[in-house]
Amino acid sequence: MKTHEIFHEARKEKRLNLEEALFLLKEADLLELAEAADAVCHTKHPDGIATFQIDRNINYTNICQNQCSFCAFFRPKGHPEAYVLSQEEIEKKVAETLELSGTQVMLQGGINPELNIDYYTKMFSEIKSKFNIRIHSLSPPEIVHIAESAGISISEALKELMEAGLDSLPGGGAEILVDRVRQRISPKKISSSEWLGVMEEAHNMGLQTTATMMIGTVETAEDRITHLQKIRDLQDRTGGFLSFIPWTFQPGNTSLGGKSVSSIEYLKTLSVSRLFLNNFSNIQGSWVTQGKDIGQICLSFGANDMGSIMIEENVVRAAGVSHRITVDEMVDLIRKAGKIPAQRDTEFKILKVYEV
Ligand code: SF4
Repeated sequence: MKTHEIFHEARKEKRLNLEEALFLLKEADLLELAEAADAVCHTKHPDGIATFQIDRNINYTNICQNQCSFCAFFRPKGHPEAYVLSQEEIEKKVAETLELSGTQVMLQGGINPELNIDYYTKMFSEIKSKFNIRIHSLSPPEIVHIAESAGISISEALKELMEAGLDSLPGGGAEILVDRVRQRISPKKISSSEWLGVMEEAHNMGLQTTATMMIGTVETAEDRITHLQKIRDLQDRTGGFLSFIPWTFQPGNTSLGGKSVSSIEYLKTLSVSRLFLNNFSNIQGSWVTQGKDIGQICLSFGANDMGSIMIEENVVRAAGVSHRITVDEMVDLIRKAGKIPAQRDTEFKILKVYEV
């Protein structure tokens, strides 16, 4: 198998197979990989725009019964640092988000057995009655928990949440969609087929979502490509994914521990994702886990989006990694990567282009 033949086919938007993607991930030259991914990205985004969003993560509770070994965020019930935010505290954070030109909130939390569907529907409907903001919130593990605790189906739970104000669903909780890996790092969490099942149900109900992948725990290169294949197959069936967001495991303060995956490994995975996921328009670079410099470099490795400014972020910070960025810094960073900065909304509608 010749690397250049694969790149040639990928540039023509021919679909890579599993073996080709694996070969690239293991063998390809880093800069050649970047060049091919950037060329494909340019084909999909010929205007040269690279986007970002302004939003806020509001982690309504850190109490979680799943206790995943890669997670530094959760606390068991009764722990002195365990919390559940009040509706008043949540609404204060929503108001602050709007004041800072934010367009969405991402309400996510642990799998807290004391919270039932009424807690979520009340939270969403009260926010919607007071604020004009997008609720891009929860994730498949939370949806399964909400449905199971209410004794209803996934579609019934999604319907109730959508009626209360849920606008779209983030792709958290995917990690690696291979059950052998999930058994090692998050045995109490939903299976890969459950994650995909929630997403398929959501897409079929008109709820758009994102897809994620967390690399750097115990997975192999084959597992990463299997993950991409499952995401690509579902996108073929539904077209409901807005973007793909790979990021890296942060070992600080986790029981799994170990070392962080290198930025080189991350960038390679990002580029292979761009080449393999030819049915995705948007691939996001993770400045939140990689920092501003590597975040900027992502825009030359196949990413067309920088994700959010994130007025508040707690999950990665719990692992001891805290990168902050302002709108001006983000605009400057994108410009210096040779792209045109633009603020977008959740659905990738351009809200403001920062002309030179
Ligand atoms: S990753 Fe999510 S489900 Fe797992 S322990 Fe952390 S908060 Fe709970």
